[in-house]
This record gives sequence, C-alpha cells and structure tokens, in this order.
Amino acid sequence: MSGAAAGAEHNPFEQFKKRFDNAAKYLKLDAGLGDILKTPTRELTVAVPVLMDDGTYRVFTGYRVQHNTAIGPAKGGIRYDSKVDIDEVRALAAWMTMKCAVVNVPFGGGKGGIICDPKALSQGELERMTRRYTAAIMDIIGPDKDVPAPDVNTNEQVMAWFMDTYSMHVRQATTAVVTGKPIGLGGSAGRSAATGRGVLATLECAAAVKKMKLKGAKVAIQGFGNVGGWAATLIAEQGAKIVAVSDIQGAIHNPQGLDVAKLHAHVKATKSVVGFKGSKPLDADKLVEVECDVLVPAATENVITAKNAKNVKAKIIVEGANGPTTADADAILDDKGVLVCPDILANAGGVTVSYFEWVQDRMGYFWDEERVNKELVQKMQKAFAEVHATAEQYKTNMRTAAYIVAVDRVASVTKKRGLYA
Ligand code: NAD
Repeated sequence: MSGAAAGAEHNPFEQFKKRFDNAAKYLKLDAGLGDILKTPTRELTVAVPVLMDDGTYRVFTGYRVQHNTAIGPAKGGIRYDSKVDIDEVRALAAWMTMKCAVVNVPFGGGKGGIICDPKALSQGELERMTRRYTAAIMDIIGPDKDVPAPDVNTNEQVMAWFMDTYSMHVRQATTAVVTGKPIGLGGSAGRSAATGRGVLATLECAAAVKKMKLKGAKVAIQGFGNVGGWAATLIAEQGAKIVAVSDIQGAIHNPQGLDVAKLHAHVKATKSVVGFKGSKPLDADKLVEVECDVLVPAATENVITAKNAKNVKAKIIVEGANGPTTADADAILDDKGVLVCPDILANAGGVTVSYFEWVQDRMGYFWDEERVNKELVQKMQKAFAEVHATAEQYKTNMRTAAYIVAVDRVASVTKKRGLYA
C-alpha cells in the first residue's frame, strides 16, 4: 500500500519527513532550512493520451517530481504501476536526494511515474505512452537538469525510447538525458546488475559488523526483478543459500537453498518464481518472517511494518527496495538487535552506476565492466563506513545515521549557495 490514503504509517512521504526530522534533531538543523530541504522543488502532473491498439484513446496520468537540485541535476527513476500516486513519487524523489548525498554523487533527487498497468499494455502501446510522457515533461528534463532512469516495470528499452524522443526534439543525439540505457546506446557496462551488486557490497560490510559468514548463511529475498534477481545471483555466488524468494504472484521456499540459475530459467519461461521445481509454496505475506539470517526486501514499500516486524528472524536486513520498512517497524527491529541497512545506502548501487553512465556519456569514453564494478564497490564500502561511523558517533541506528550524513551534506551545500531572492 502506498500514498496519502494509506494512513501515516504507510504514507511514504510522511515516512520520509519523519526520518528527516529525526536526523535534523541530531544535527540541530534550523527548522526553516529543514522545511526548504523537505519540500519538493517542483512537481509536474501531465496527461498522457495514448492511441490504443484497438483504435480507442486512453488518457494516463504521469508525474515527474524534482525534490531537490542543490547539489546537481535531479536524478531518479520512472515507475509504471497502477499504484503510483503523487505522495509515492514525492517520497521516491526525496529518497533519491538523500541517496545521492549518502554515496556522494553530484546529483539531486527526482522521480517519475505513470499510473498504468504495464502488463496489460502491448509493446506498441508502451512505446507510444513512453514517448508521449517524455514529450510532456521535456521542458524540465535534460542532462544538466533532470536525468531519469529505470524503476519498477521500466527497463532499458523504455530508456531507449525516452532517449530517442528527447533527442528527436532537441535535434541531436543526447544520450546523457537518461541512464539505464542499452549498451551501444550510451549505456554503461554493469548497470543492470549494479543495484544487486551494491546490495551484496552492503551485505558484506554488514556481515563483517555482525561477524556473520556469508558462506552457508540463509537468505530470503522479496521480489525477483532487476534488484532481487541480481541480488540472488550475486549473494549465492558467495556461498550463501537463497532459501526463499517471492514475486507479485507468490512465494517459494526451500530451507536447503534454491538453485538460483535454474530459478532464473524458470522465471524466464513462466514469468514467475511460483511453481519452481525443488521448492514448496510459501504464503507470500510470510516471506519476511521466514527462518533466515539475511532478509533482502527488493520489491515495494511498507512490507515490514509494526504488525510483522516482531516476527522477523533475520539478523541483517539489506533494503534493496525503496521504503520497505515503516518507521514504526524500525523501532521494533532496533529492540530486536537487527542490523537494518537502509534503502538510501543499500540500494544506492544503481544510482552510483547511473552516475558513471552519465559521466561516460558526457566524456564519450566508455569503461570496461571491471572498472565499473571496482569503482562501484569502493563507493558502496566508503558510504557504509561513513554511515556506520556516524551511527557510532551519534549512537543511532544505521537509518538515522544515513539521514544524518545525507541531510548534513545537502544542508551544507544549500547554505553555501545561499538563498536566491
Ligand atoms: P522490477 O520491476 O524489476 O521487479 C520488481 C519485483 O518485485 C518483481 O519480481 C515483482 O513481481 C515483485 N513484486 C512487486 N510487488 C510485489 C509484492 N507485493 N510482493 C512480492 N513481490 C512483489 O523492479 P526493480 O527495479 O527490481 O525494483 C524493485 C525495488 O527496488 C523498488 O522499490 C525500486 O524502487 C528499488 N530500486 C530499484 C533500482 C534499480 O536500479 N532498478 C535501484 C534502487 C532501488
């Protein structure tokens, strides 16, 4: 559940503000400056009319929110989902501001979305919707203004249509307007695996803190898309057992560990993890409560709540998804001694390699995957160390510490820039 209608525990933008205020207290941040930094700079709502395959017209609603551009151009994905609403997009944009500051990449925060059920649309309808949406938000995007990327239900094909539409309008090939593009069209080596690789790098740091060996550790992963699928592959490569996974259609379980390569083949063939040979079905709501050492929520918001947090068995949670844990659940997990690696740190691998992609596009010089992965892991390890040291300094959990690092960076730049009047 997301959005304003969902009540404070489940409204992601309210959750963002709560976490921000908590960090601001530690930093003794001026309240007015806090208001500036919490409030989205710009919100655009657009009508996206589309000619459907059956000859009828449909009008979709699209959003682009630029939360903050103090440090650099807005940066953040585009989500296609029937549950998209303005408060969700606001929260996702604000989290991007925080995330870019945590990993120290020179971007602000933005996010976009279209309310639609992409699975009910043909390729042609998806392309026409993407192109019309791109044209509708043209005035506020650009390599130096706002650089979108993939998110839930969007992929490198959608990014290619986005880049092409923008380029046709400005009459020049402009690869740096969007990241997560295909290789050969300004895309970066290592981008599709980047968020999962960042999740692994975060998990390795967290395991060292908890003195947990990854070899043989039991891992449960919610969501088996870009983030969850790659996280499963890369974590399994370290000798961990992936004991449970889920997707929108259901969950599966095998306490001895699932064969991740075969699971990917099953998902490719059937479009779901459900029915995988060598697994038993699991109640999808119970995935976060399953017996495991590590839990990786990599699907959607508000899945670890005040209701189920007490039943979480994992000792480490690495938030591949944005906003999977509510603020009420945080307190319960803290009491249980669970080490929660927050979204704005743990899933920052994607935006980090998006930053590398944007740099490569502007240089017109492309790195090999080895360099991308090496620099990604270095950035993730540095960010983890800074957040962990901040947590020790202020005696807080990792989420509050990540917000302290991020708010401090954005506030300090904002003060240096001064307020244009
Ligand atoms: P995706 O569309 O590739 O995959 C989403 C997966 O989650 C699918 O397997 C889907 O079936 C599953 N899912 C959706 N709702 C579910 C539910 N209620 N229960 C269980 N499974 C469910 O999306 P993605 O890019 O992997 O993004 C997943 C999360 O990670 C989102 O919160 C996104 O904002 C965040 N994220 C993505 C990136 C990235 O680079 N793609 C970067 C940072 C954060």
